[in-house]
Amino acid sequence: MRTSIVLFTCDLRLSDHPPLRAALDGGGRVVPLFVRDPAVDAACFAAPNRRAFLADCLRDLDARLRERGGRLVLREGDTVTQVCRVAAETDTDEVHMADDVSAFAHARERRLRRALEAAGRRLYVHDTVSTAVAPGSVTPAASDHFAVFTPYFRRWSEQGLRDVWEAPRAITVPEEVGSVMLPERGQVSETSPGLCRGGETEGRRRLTAWLRSGLDSYEERHDDLAGDATSKLSPHLHFGTLSPVEAVRRARRAGGPGADAFVRQIAWRDFNRQVLAARPDAAARDYRTHGDNWRVGKSVEADVEAWREGLTGYPVVDAAMRQLRHEGWMHNRGRLLVASFLTKTLYVDWRVGARHFLDLLVDGDLANNQLNWQWMAGTGTDTRPNRVFNPVTQGKRYDPDGDYVRRWVEELACVQGGAVHEPWKLPAQERSKTGYPEPIVSLAEGLERFKRARGRS
Ligand code: FAD
Repeated sequence: MRTSIVLFTCDLRLSDHPPLRAALDGGGRVVPLFVRDPAVDAACFAAPNRRAFLADCLRDLDARLRERGGRLVLREGDTVTQVCRVAAETDTDEVHMADDVSAFAHARERRLRRALEAAGRRLYVHDTVSTAVAPGSVTPAASDHFAVFTPYFRRWSEQGLRDVWEAPRAITVPEEVGSVMLPERGQVSETSPGLCRGGETEGRRRLTAWLRSGLDSYEERHDDLAGDATSKLSPHLHFGTLSPVEAVRRARRAGGPGADAFVRQIAWRDFNRQVLAARPDAAARDYRTHGDNWRVGKSVEADVEAWREGLTGYPVVDAAMRQLRHEGWMHNRGRLLVASFLTKTLYVDWRVGARHFLDLLVDGDLANNQLNWQWMAGTGTDTRPNRVFNPVTQGKRYDPDGDYVRRWVEELACVQGGAVHEPWKLPAQERSKTGYPEPIVSLAEGLERFKRARGRS
């Protein structure tokens, strides 16, 4: 009987899964395979929050496969070696997997193709698994990718999306193929206490709940820091426990301004992926350099430490950094503010911030993280690279009653209303009782330094 392998990577679902559908279309047996590859961990993906979320995803995937008569096969080691080994054990002709955008993923795909072909087998790589519109499928006239979002979004919106496919009803997995034990979330230490749950079942539940009760108000509330009114689907989109094609189609079906705004954010995700696919070096190097001579040295280390710990003396920055540590997730407005503060007010290299985010974010994603950091640092695709966010005015605007700050900065829990954004204006005695730190830098000083550095003063 014909046997195919479906190699899961960042597409940990059964619904709307083109590689699985293609494997099943041919009839016969399917090996649903996931390889825990130490090289993936070494390429900075071993963060505890993502490992715990991944454990949930693998267990859920296995449970959903078992409901259909199958099971997940888990192997450990080099991906290429393991896939070739399973292919030989099961006499497989073809391997199906999703495309991916990083330099690591491209190299893995090339090696795998070569190794399989040398053994007379074939690799099929499917697009629109991890994106709604495939990277490289829309391009401007004179380039291999869009460098500006607005024209990209125009073209992206004109693309017809493929159909959404239901999860298969039955899967036959060859009995002889062995698997190592699936990991458990509880085995991972040093995770954030408020970490969310992973897995396709949870991702689908969240999407349905979001479309029912969050989408309508998304347009007016997505920047409301305290309201927490965004979808929180980012880890599911990152691990592929949710299909972006399905998310876009279902949101469009629901309709309205909330749906339009939400779909636009998913297009931002596709935008960043098409940039990274075309320029994989943008994960580590400036996409558009300004020749920045970022600050280094002992005093900078102290500033960065204060930033990491949420002790900068700027309440909204500190609230967001503490949310990151507690949940392994941060509101998008918070991400913008803390990234602006690090790269522009403190004038610290964006890679320092991106690294810290990847250490903690459950949705930590090379394309979205590095390119959003570059956007905020002004070395990326922002058409206004020197914009600086003022954390006080931004705090008052997006957290007018101060609830977000009070939720995360317990020293300031007793300060009423929006006054929480300017603790330095409190009477001296009241202020000293809070124990909250003084600002580590004056905003005017930070701004001057940044302007000088970018040759704008
Ligand atoms: P929603 O507002 O509900 O949006 C829906 C989906 O659209 C998100 O799940 C996400 O997949 C996508 N999306 C939303 N905003 C953006 C954006 N600005 N850019 C690209 N895609 C977007 N997102 C990640 O998924 N992983 C990261 O590692 C990451 N790092 C970031 C670092 C910085 C400095 C900044 C400014 C943003 C970063 N983002 C990252 C983008 C964004 O902050 C998150 O996707 C969003 O906050 C996730 O929350 P949500 O699912 O509730 O988003």
